[in-house]
Amino acid sequence: MQCFQHQAINAVGLCKSCLKGVCQECATEVPTGLVCSSACADHAAEMQEMHVRGLKIYGIGQYHSKMPSTGVLVWFLLSMAMWVSFFHTYIQSDYVNVGSLTVAAIFTVILLVAWFSARRTGIKC
Ligand SMILES: [Zn+2]
Ligand SMILES: [Zn+2]
Repeated sequence: MQCFQHQAINAVGLCKSCLKGVCQECATEVPTGLVCSSACADHAAEMQEMHVRGLKIYGIGQYHSKMPSTGVLVWFLLSMAMWVSFFHTYIQSDYVNVGSLTVAAIFTVILLVAWFSARRTGIKC
């Protein structure tokens, strides 16, 4: 394979960003490989940043985590608070507060939807 700038010279590798062949002279080394220009270096850095963020979002490899996603955690705490409030009123005054029971039930349904959705997509943030 030849350098895309210098047809007579053999390429030493592919640009990480645009995948064109680059010779020793055209290639610039970046942490993730070779690039052909500063625009491609920027693009390669952005792709690397996106790649690392993806690993964090999905909890892959070194970012593996047992923590549930923030959405699941928030809905869990909100539904717990509503259930505590409902049972507190019920135990104290033997009064069934239909309003807070309804809200507690709705929050629990949302919690389950958020939980299944987070499990399906593998999102860990
Ligand atoms: Zn390039
Ligand atoms: Zn070249």
